[in-house]
Amino acid sequence: MTERRDVVIIGGGHNGLTAAAYLAQAGLDVQVLERLDVLGGAAISAEAFAGVDARLSRYSYLVSLLPQRIIDDLGLQIALAPRRYSSYTPVPGGDGGLLVDNQDPFATADSFAALGASEDALAWATFYEGTAHLARALFPTVTDPLLTRDEARAAVGDDALWRSLIEQPVGRTIADTFQNDLVRGVVYTDALIGTFAPNDDESLLANRCFLYHVIGGGTGDWNVPVGGMGAVSGELERAARLAGATLTTSAEVTSLAPDRVVHWVDGAGVEHATAAEHVLVNCSPHELARLLAAGGGVGASDHGLAAPPAEGAQVKVNLLLSRLPRLRDAALDPAAAFGGTFHINETFTQLQAAHDAAVAGRVPDPVPAEIYCHSLTDPSILGPELRASGAQTLTVFALHTPDRLITETTNDAMRATLQRAVLDSLDSVLAEPIESLLLTDANGNPCVETKTTRDLEHALRLPGGSIFHGDLGWPWVENGAPLDTPAQRWGVDTGLPGVLLCGSGARRGGAVSGIAGHNAAMAVLESR
Ligand SMILES: Cc1cc2nc3c(=O)[nH]c(=O)nc-3n(C[C@H](O)[C@H](O)[C@H](O)COP(=O)(O)OP(=O)(O)OC[C@H]3O[C@@H](n4cnc5c(N)ncnc54)[C@H](O)[C@@H]3O)c2cc1C
Repeated sequence: MTERRDVVIIGGGHNGLTAAAYLAQAGLDVQVLERLDVLGGAAISAEAFAGVDARLSRYSYLVSLLPQRIIDDLGLQIALAPRRYSSYTPVPGGDGGLLVDNQDPFATADSFAALGASEDALAWATFYEGTAHLARALFPTVTDPLLTRDEARAAVGDDALWRSLIEQPVGRTIADTFQNDLVRGVVYTDALIGTFAPNDDESLLANRCFLYHVIGGGTGDWNVPVGGMGAVSGELERAARLAGATLTTSAEVTSLAPDRVVHWVDGAGVEHATAAEHVLVNCSPHELARLLAAGGGVGASDHGLAAPPAEGAQVKVNLLLSRLPRLRDAALDPAAAFGGTFHINETFTQLQAAHDAAVAGRVPDPVPAEIYCHSLTDPSILGPELRASGAQTLTVFALHTPDRLITETTNDAMRATLQRAVLDSLDSVLAEPIESLLLTDANGNPCVETKTTRDLEHALRLPGGSIFHGDLGWPWVENGAPLDTPAQRWGVDTGLPGVLLCGSGARRGGAVSGIAGHNAAMAVLESR
């Protein structure tokens, strides 16, 4: 028997929950179908280590792009804590490093000077005034119908800035702007989180990644979700339930037919068919193409949905330590170094060498990585005993480890290899081995959890482990692109009537932002 709903949402990631909350609030009959037994997708907290009272943000960990408008509209009780320090970057093989202190410009200037990069301190301030200008101009537009490229450029109103950060490879702009190799690398990493690109990236994919990393909230600040990332999805789940949406977990969607009948299997193995006026796709466009093919009737390639699989290029490592590690830079308090983003082996030269190695089929040595310590800013994710003991969490996001290095057969071995490479990279800047500080779980295993791109595909169905469901698009459309339908105007079009993207794969959808969910909901409401 076919059930009927106004809206079926395939996937219960944070964007699916956002769309569900908006549409249920508007009085629509909404059902979310999530294949896992938890909601939130890549935005969850988990007890990663057996029997250890610590709820880590298992995948995504910092928030920048969640608009205040969504928080206010849905009445979300979310606390996002700012970080005192922006970043610390040790000089590879040396004892010093660059500490960027958000609250103390003089200390930051001194740190640049100690690095022999005083000129770059001035360039840094000017460069980030430019990105702040972009942020103020562009971020307010992400929850409105799309601008065209010309309209976006006019909104920015600074042609030189537009050229340097939008039209020419951002790595080239960075190399022109800064002299110091380490400083260049720190700036460029924002172009590489979730993106596999060389330093001089003519495709401008790195520019798109960079742009999303510097415009969030109109400031580009990355904040700590208090209570962990699960607290963000938890609030969206609460808002969706309160509004009357039906949220069904352990519900695997197996196909989508052209007449918008969604076939799915529940946790007991019972098959269901639900016909919907609108189908919102929170899973990736690649998963959508698979579901359409299984539903017969529609040639996914006719709609540009059968693009080659996207590729992730990162490895994520979660650690639980008895305390923060001592640094080679003995004069620096580890709480300052780990209080912001800690960059390891990410000079501009090292980033290019790592990219070259990965393209040649090798794990980079050293692997470039960045670390962040959640529990320093928000100890609430640790149980009382752990907190009192001084234990700290570390999250490592390592770059330039693309999915092409791994196969289904080699995944276990590569997970071990990549974990070793990440720990070695970390050790290269510490005064003591990181493994000597690892706590053990209830089974006596060290508290370290490593997720390869393959693991992410298996766990979350991220195609090729791509953290954004595929390559990021500009937050505007090209001039002359069709904007005839609500779905096109909101950047959630799939080419299929009544089937809309509402996940990371939508234009402006990447990251923990709720933007794709909001925009898909607006397109649905506008079309009724
Ligand atoms: C390791 C990692 C680190 C990251 N770090 C950050 C960060 O710090 N900050 C940030 O802003 N972003 C980060 N991101 C990106 C961010 O997490 C994602 O862009 C965002 O969570 C995507 O949300 P979503 O709701 O669109 O999709 P997802 O979270 O991918 O959710 C989609 C859901 O669809 C479900 N699904 C798929 N197929 C089916 C099916 N056939 N039937 C039913 N359900 C299905 C999946 O199980 C999943 O729950 C990170 C991502 C990863 C993986």
